[in-house]
Amino acid sequence: MSQTPAPLSSWARNVSPSPTLAVDAKAKALQAAGEDVCGFAAGEPDFDTPEHIKEACIAALKAGKTKYAPTPGIEPLRTAIAERYLADYGHKVVAGQVVVSPGGKFSCYLGVLATCSPGDEVIVPAPFWVSYPEMVKLAGAVPKLVLADDRTGFKLTPAQLEAAITPRTRLLILNSPSNPTGAVYTRAELAALVAVAVKHNLYILSDEMYEHLVYDGAKPTCVATLSPEAEARTLIVAGFSKTYAMTGWRIGTLVAPAPIAKAVSELQSQMSSNVTTFAQYGALAALKEKEKTAAALKTMLVAFDRRRKFLHAGLSRIPGISCLLAEGAFYLFPNISSFGLKDVDFCARLLDEQKVAAVPGSAFGAEGYLRLSYATSDEIIAKGVERLTRFCATLRK
Ligand SMILES: *Cc1c(COP(=O)(O)O)cnc(C)c1O
Repeated sequence: MSQTPAPLSSWARNVSPSPTLAVDAKAKALQAAGEDVCGFAAGEPDFDTPEHIKEACIAALKAGKTKYAPTPGIEPLRTAIAERYLADYGHKVVAGQVVVSPGGKFSCYLGVLATCSPGDEVIVPAPFWVSYPEMVKLAGAVPKLVLADDRTGFKLTPAQLEAAITPRTRLLILNSPSNPTGAVYTRAELAALVAVAVKHNLYILSDEMYEHLVYDGAKPTCVATLSPEAEARTLIVAGFSKTYAMTGWRIGTLVAPAPIAKAVSELQSQMSSNVTTFAQYGALAALKEKEKTAAALKTMLVAFDRRRKFLHAGLSRIPGISCLLAEGAFYLFPNISSFGLKDVDFCARLLDEQKVAAVPGSAFGAEGYLRLSYATSDEIIAKGVERLTRFCATLRK
């Protein structure tokens, strides 16, 4: 007699698949079917990894760097990461505070696991990066979403934070520059939020993945440098994916006070072990061959900045759309609420009728917006804006 298999676990049943990857997959499927799609859904640079980084990885592979390595990363890479925090922010860090993980996404998850027990509450400002609430749930903790919309530049205020804290709150997640909005908090704005977190003895997970992708003279802030109290409770997540066009390499970094870093490393030792050994040598070259890396980053930044202004100018000419000129990452987050259509329906029809792929704001916890990635060519941006203009005109009739 055949038996129906038992249901899958609550973890498996309750996790939501990534909506950004879903839109991207649908756009790619249309493209594969021969449709001329303008894709604004991608969450990665459209550049290739710089050559010297690839070469260093290939050399390491040929030199037999093919065995297990220490869980928190090869020693020279951990040291180079510690050194770059000193150089970039004057933040004194030793190698023992650094954990290299398979992607910044996993660094975030380990950070949540290291600080939160089941039932603890985690404050997640919305619009949020899609993985935060899911990874909080996968730790048995409870995400508390707090909406910061375009009226405050998509930035959480200290009063909002204060109001969301309960005796169960354990962790605050910050992400500046932000995915999905591109917003960059000033140092003073972050200091005000951190003061509230310190007062309530919260941990802070500061996702600084886009720290180097800033424009108009905006400066990234390393949250751990705000005060000794901030340093003692902050887990900084960053990585190589966005800055060096290395998304497929899967290399993220976490820097925290030594006891926290040790706990993160111990969790990782049972969940994944080290990042691919020879890949770490590529990352090492990114940090060591500074001039070549800086030149590659500069090329990306110039292109991103040009496209950012170009896309923003195009959006600003469309009646009914309002859009802040964000200072970081490679996203704009226009407000489309004036059309009186749910953002999910707006995006579905936009893809269907005009072959333009965008992710609805509700995927990031903010109904009434679109996330448009400008990590794409100038031609696609020009054509996409033209189609979006046409689409919006039909909605206003
Ligand atoms: C891309 C991204 C990450 C994770 O990057 P990895 O590819 O896992 O290194 C983390 N946080 C934000 C906000 C991101 O956009």
